[in-house]
Amino acid sequence: MAYLTLTNINKIYPNGFHAVHNFNLEIEKGEFIVFVGPSGCGKSTTLRMVAGLEDISSGDFLIGDRRVNELGPREREVAMVFQSYALYPQMSVYDNLGFGLTLQGVDEDVIEERVLATAKILGLTDYLDRMPRALSGGQRQRVAVGRAIIRKVGVFLMDEPLSNLDAKQRVTMRSEITQIHRQTGATTIYVTHDQTEAMTMADRIVVMKQGYIQQVGTPYELYFRPVNMFVAGFIGEPPMNFIRGTLQNGQFPVDTQKLDISPVLGNRTAEFADREIVFGFRPESVLLGEQENSFHLKALVELTEMLGDNANVYITIGDEHAILKVDPHDIPAIDSEITFSVPYDRVYLFDGQTEDVIPTEKG
Ligand code: ATP
Repeated sequence: MAYLTLTNINKIYPNGFHAVHNFNLEIEKGEFIVFVGPSGCGKSTTLRMVAGLEDISSGDFLIGDRRVNELGPREREVAMVFQSYALYPQMSVYDNLGFGLTLQGVDEDVIEERVLATAKILGLTDYLDRMPRALSGGQRQRVAVGRAIIRKVGVFLMDEPLSNLDAKQRVTMRSEITQIHRQTGATTIYVTHDQTEAMTMADRIVVMKQGYIQQVGTPYELYFRPVNMFVAGFIGEPPMNFIRGTLQNGQFPVDTQKLDISPVLGNRTAEFADREIVFGFRPESVLLGEQENSFHLKALVELTEMLGDNANVYITIGDEHAILKVDPHDIPAIDSEITFSVPYDRVYLFDGQTEDVIPTEKG
């Protein structure tokens, strides 16, 4: 049996706004789950319903086999880390870490043991006497995480915990949180709008849009087998390129060029005759020049960005825009015309109406 089970969860706020629709998810013990999606998609609302900070309008939330919809946050044995850290400014790091246990009436010597062990995991041993104002953002966030893990609860909830940190600290804390998760084994739900955090930290990612789950899967599954254009465009940086067009006689028009789509659509080509489809390919999937088993496209180079390990090339094909990721030694000149190849097995096709992926020959 799953450890956490959310079945047909809905959230309708008192003003009538339906923020979360029929949310279904089973989470195994020890999993690191990331809810990701653009602002307003309902990820914090869902997390807060799991935490017991927000009423569940309908549906069932089970921890093990126990329905906990009506239980308060403390009875659910969950610990939450907020974006704002929520540290007590007038207390030392030691007291911030231990305060929750003090409130529970835990013995002082047990508290000391757990504070020291937690501080060790988080690299805070040398800072126990400091006040929060004398800590860096990353150190404060570590104290906030420490306050949650010291409670040794089964479920660990984090709402955008890294959003107040600068880019470098975010990368460091990202791997620290992943390591802490490995050490504690606590089941974790982590909310972010940052797809890189989702990809690097999650066992499984839940992609949300406007209150609906779009897809649940491992980072690998979401990247290589997105179910629709939204997921395909959300996961990956720079995002997947999309070109819309209407199939004519099995040919897909890209400005004045025509691509014979049958190597990808196979025997479904006829089914999509005269229908609008979207041709998708990732910037990193292309090769310069004319390669075998690929679509060949001519394009104009608008702009290039040298990033060191690779380079982004911004191109136009008539009115269409796309980004290609190329080897930094092969950056084409601005304003030059190039030909590039998109291997058949790296192309994604989407239904232009539903925006759902069309299963292709690559499976
Ligand atoms: P963000 O990343 O911006 O926090 P989110 O995905 O976490 O976004 P939520 O905070 O869950 O989104 O909000 C989902 C939707 O519910 C939003 O449209 C928001 O405006 C709305 N909402 C949130 N709280 C309330 C409330 N108390 N009453 C009415 N609507 C609300």
